[in-house]
Amino acid sequence: MRVLVTGGAGFIGSAVVRHLVVDKSYDVLNVDKLTYAGTLTSVNMLEGNPLYRFLKADICDGQAISEAFSSFKPDRVMHLAAESHVDRSITGAKDFVETNVLGSFTMLECARAYWQALEGDAKARFRFLHVSTDEVYGSLGDDGLFTEATPYDPSSPYSASKAASDHLAKAWERTYGMPIVVSNCSNNYGPFHFPEKLIPLMIINALEGKPLPVYGNGVNIRDWLYVEDHARALDIIAERGRIGETYNVGGRNERRNIDVVKRVCQLMDELHPAGRPHENLIQYVTDRPGHDARYAIDATKLETELGWKALENFDTGIEKTVKWYLENEWWWAPLRQGYDGTRLGLLKAGA
Ligand code: NAD
Repeated sequence: MRVLVTGGAGFIGSAVVRHLVVDKSYDVLNVDKLTYAGTLTSVNMLEGNPLYRFLKADICDGQAISEAFSSFKPDRVMHLAAESHVDRSITGAKDFVETNVLGSFTMLECARAYWQALEGDAKARFRFLHVSTDEVYGSLGDDGLFTEATPYDPSSPYSASKAASDHLAKAWERTYGMPIVVSNCSNNYGPFHFPEKLIPLMIINALEGKPLPVYGNGVNIRDWLYVEDHARALDIIAERGRIGETYNVGGRNERRNIDVVKRVCQLMDELHPAGRPHENLIQYVTDRPGHDARYAIDATKLETELGWKALENFDTGIEKTVKWYLENEWWWAPLRQGYDGTRLGLLKAGA
């Protein structure tokens, strides 16, 4: 099995690449532009592995992408490359439209040309998985869950650009008959998560004795999934998901942001007692504009149809994650250089 993964130097993409090479022994080509969010240190354990190769390329560059298709000859594409940080999309949406919309368009067009020229078993085997987010569905009230039938209602430039790319993927399946499947997942957490995102930011700021900036009153709810559970789900969906279908991915782990931050503080109190009580570092800051109140995923279709199940519960997953950051400063310290530790300070640093 030969899999072309885009965005494999990012948080989820690197977990997918590690899973496919190490656990599945698949041949993988990792195509990544190495933006500020991509680092090859997340896949450096694969260096020298004959099943793994890397191509530095922009998914908007049609020539580079079509050459990647013709030289690597993938059986499967898992398209994860994206601009992914909501705060950055609010202050600079252009990169999001370019990569998430035009880049996905380029991936679909290059895949179409490649797939149309295939014959026999190779053509029958080919699959394209478009990886997306539950944020395309907008915000939930106190009750209910996002299902695959929930209408799209994105709030941020990030989620709007992802929604646009999902529609392109669906249209390429319906119009051209391409073998495409779409997945929409809830918030991920775990090792190799870029230090600007909520959980790693809180762990590292707590370690450094810096304020822990929480948006608004902290009651926004997210549904957390351990990244390795997502990577396994994506492999299963790419392999066995029905063409033209959407699969929601989530771990049934709803938590208020403030409770996540307080749990990180408790773990830091145990693991880094010098700085305790870390909860004293929590600071409420002006809310993010258009901040969705609640996300929660109904993953029944994926669980019953394809037999996937989240293996990690939030309590064990968050403990593993905090420990990983404490033991792997070599990975995050270079990525954090120039940051002042505030949520928007990450943007001001221009990294
Ligand atoms: P990330 O920001 O950690 O990684 C994105 C990767 O894409 C980086 O390695 C970056 O260098 C690469 N990239 C960006 N622009 C590119 C371009 N133009 N050409 C080639 N490569 C480019 O993102 P992530 O959190 O790993 O998310 C991966 C995918 O999963 C995204 O499509 C995202 O929308 C989706 N998703 C993320 C979450 C989450 O909680 N992080 C949840 C659901 C879905």
